[in-house]
Amino acid sequence: MPSHAVPTVIHDVVFNRRPRPEYTDDQYEFEVYLILRQELCWDYRHQPGYKELYAEGRSCMERLPMAKLERGMELKDAQLMFEYCLRKLSSISNIGTITDDILDTLRKLTGWFQNEQGRFPRLGRRTLQIRCFALAALIWCYFRMHFWRAHECTLKELRNDLPLGNVAHFAMVCVNYDYLPPIVIRAAGWFASAKTLYDGVDIRWTIPQFAKEKTLWEAWDKYVESQAAKESKQLAKVAKAPHRYRCAADRCGIRAMHKRALRQCGGDCAPDVRPSYCSEECQLKHWLVHRYVCRKNPLDAPIVVWDDDSDWEDVEVYKPSYDDGALSDAAIWRKDIGVELFVDIPTCSRFLPGVVFRLRSRTFSPAFLRSYRDLWQLPKRVRTKKQAVLLPTPETMLDELDALFDSREKMGVLHDKLRERVGLR
Ligand SMILES: [Zn+2]
Ligand SMILES: [Zn+2]
Repeated sequence: MPSHAVPTVIHDVVFNRRPRPEYTDDQYEFEVYLILRQELCWDYRHQPGYKELYAEGRSCMERLPMAKLERGMELKDAQLMFEYCLRKLSSISNIGTITDDILDTLRKLTGWFQNEQGRFPRLGRRTLQIRCFALAALIWCYFRMHFWRAHECTLKELRNDLPLGNVAHFAMVCVNYDYLPPIVIRAAGWFASAKTLYDGVDIRWTIPQFAKEKTLWEAWDKYVESQAAKESKQLAKVAKAPHRYRCAADRCGIRAMHKRALRQCGGDCAPDVRPSYCSEECQLKHWLVHRYVCRKNPLDAPIVVWDDDSDWEDVEVYKPSYDDGALSDAAIWRKDIGVELFVDIPTCSRFLPGVVFRLRSRTFSPAFLRSYRDLWQLPKRVRTKKQAVLLPTPETMLDELDALFDSREKMGVLHDKLRERVGLR
């Protein structure tokens, strides 16, 4: 991709997890619960900030203890029934199964399914909003079910794949209600990029059960367009002072949307080119280059000299440590919760040139963000060369991140092999 091209961000993930020690099992479940709320109960066009999401989730937990929700199930109160399903789903682990009673309850909540007697079950307080939430939750369940299956689904099997058929259909119904929660976008994005898995075949249009969900695919195209427009708008802002929004160190790639997220060189270099850094580590590395332009008196500064100055050898052999170094647990987190930083992760798919996933965080260290990105960029041949563990990250955390990115599916088969390399499988 030429450097001036605007990358298309097709999946934008915010991850503000705190370090483990603060966590109990309850809190872990609570985080998953928040992720579910964000993915299912909010339109992507009106996403809440983390604070708002957190406050909302907390208050729900306090107001509605499980006993009350169970009572709500008996009384057939739609609002409480949905909340009950959310809680149950947040306690399901990656390899667990979604029980039939949850699916059954969600189906009842949508109001689109008849019961055994051929009647639509009557529920109290079943608003259109709750019906949409339930649809979104079903999409989430069926999407997971598809990927939980042990075998890879062939193109032929896709024709009759019930979970995926449901995903596409329910997502289309949401679109028709003009309700676009992140799970709908994520599902549509998966279908659009599944070419990677099926030899370039666009399953959206070639498989009849998906081809009929036309409005979903149109909504996806519109989404990609709007993301690209948003990105160019931000880039225009950044273009006015690019050095304020991007770490100056070579190959770092850490960026920010907020001017104060990165810290600037405190030297005497000209303000309009004064470099910014994500960390002390990067500043030290960049100093090898920057010291030539950062002088007490800019007039006598020998702006980068391209002669046989032996100092330049340093630059030749300079290698960022995160390329091969292991990351200690402590290095995963930032010392304080700071202003949000982000890193763009190019997709491995040759069918999605110039498309990136964006990982934003206020708690992860720049070193972790880089490592996570680099994990996806490793060439196959490097894999077997060294046994070094790249990321001694708690496995569960990588799993959560991966689940958010749906990277195993989106990024193609490379994933398993990469995980193998980092010793997680
Ligand atoms: Zn940096
Ligand atoms: Zn300077």
